[in-house]
Amino acid sequence: MSKANHYQLRDLPSVSVILDAMHDDISQWGHDAVTDVARAQLEQARVSVKSGSPAPESPEEIIKAIRATLNQSAEPSLRPVFNLTGIVLHSNLGRASLPHAAIDAVQRVAAGASNLEYDLDAGARGDRDSHIESLICELTGAEAATVVNNNAAAVLLVLNTLALMKNVPVSRGELVEIGGSFRVPDIMHRSGCTLVEVGTTNRTHLKDYANAISADTALLMRVHTSNYRVEGFTHTVPESELAALARRHAIPFVVDMGCGNLIDLTALGLPHEATAQQTLRNGADLVLFSGDKLLGGPQAGVIAGRKDLIAQIKQNPLKRALRLDKMTLAALEATLKLYRHPTDLLQALPTLRLLTRCVEDIQAQTTRLAPIISDALGERYRVASVAVASQIGSGSLPQEILPSAALAIRATDQRDETLRTLSEDLRACRKPIVGRLKNGALLLDLRCLATSDEDDFIEQFSGLR
Ligand SMILES: *Cc1c(COP(=O)(O)O)cnc(C)c1O
Repeated sequence: MSKANHYQLRDLPSVSVILDAMHDDISQWGHDAVTDVARAQLEQARVSVKSGSPAPESPEEIIKAIRATLNQSAEPSLRPVFNLTGIVLHSNLGRASLPHAAIDAVQRVAAGASNLEYDLDAGARGDRDSHIESLICELTGAEAATVVNNNAAAVLLVLNTLALMKNVPVSRGELVEIGGSFRVPDIMHRSGCTLVEVGTTNRTHLKDYANAISADTALLMRVHTSNYRVEGFTHTVPESELAALARRHAIPFVVDMGCGNLIDLTALGLPHEATAQQTLRNGADLVLFSGDKLLGGPQAGVIAGRKDLIAQIKQNPLKRALRLDKMTLAALEATLKLYRHPTDLLQALPTLRLLTRCVEDIQAQTTRLAPIISDALGERYRVASVAVASQIGSGSLPQEILPSAALAIRATDQRDETLRTLSEDLRACRKPIVGRLKNGALLLDLRCLATSDEDDFIEQFSGLR
């Protein structure tokens, strides 16, 4: 180490000198927090002096850096972003945006006491499912229903209740993995039941199921192959035939539907997706689905179907561990109630509104915004308006099927590095912008950019480094 460096190290202030100058900060943040940050900041200064950089000019400079770190740590870690990935129900970006009615309902119950588990008529303890069960039955045609934390929890709870230490035949074509952590074979194992694989990846017949049924078989399960499709020489057994087979053997037929869909999506120009009503009419004894996929509500798992089975499920002690909190129940109730008004649903439910947003509207938006963003980015980048395809996301078919429009940003020097820097800077904005890199361009699909958010979106670019 050079002599100059040595002196500079010696001149760095001590922790106690720094703390003495930070009384107000200590009363705001607490002694321990300020001390920890001060130590870290001094250590950083020491390291940089040792590597030849000049020492901070004054203790004030170090104090400024400490304050910046403390302020930054106070920013919420979980915060809103612009989802311009082109995937409407993005599992990593929080899936469904809640309808206003649901947000209002959350606010109403969050702030104080509620009748969450209190029967106001009887003046006695109630059941938290009571707020939602009849509504689910009304919309799906089920006899009974209950709700848990998410659809994975619903599958776990149903299997653990109805199939503990017994066998469950599932088609090899349905042993799906969803989002990396939900794998049908793993969840079955953890539920305490034994998976019996039947059929093949592409073809499974009724006789495959029939041959697999024994005295140890608890139920038949169908898993919706949400996020992939087997094409070509394929065969799956219709639900009504599986239901009839299960009935002959006096065992339940359970369908994990994945997306919770309650309406005819083809009437909206979207791909067909089975409804819970139809699946129950086809003979399913229980249907299971998510609250925050196509249903457009909060994260939740709905279990609907036969009354005797739901009663059994509600008695499983695991139900307590997987139950919904009051805020989610409020949001789910409000979301489901929107389905009573089908003509208003498209406007009231953000998920459906975004999925059905017309391409001309999105194109007009990219045409309007391209020159503004281009000006803001300057010489280093070129911005064009291009046609793209958005995806539904969240375990819906992965084919890109919704015609959309995007801002395509390319680096003028055509270097990947330049483009990557921009996409990093956009993710570092006050309200981070998340797009996708494709073929040498950063694509910002504007399907999910509300017109009312345009000014905020533009403002992020003016603050870029
Ligand atoms: C998405 C999905 C799940 C998991 O649902 P979560 O609500 O994310 O827990 C389970 N099964 C199927 C078929 C799915 O599509």
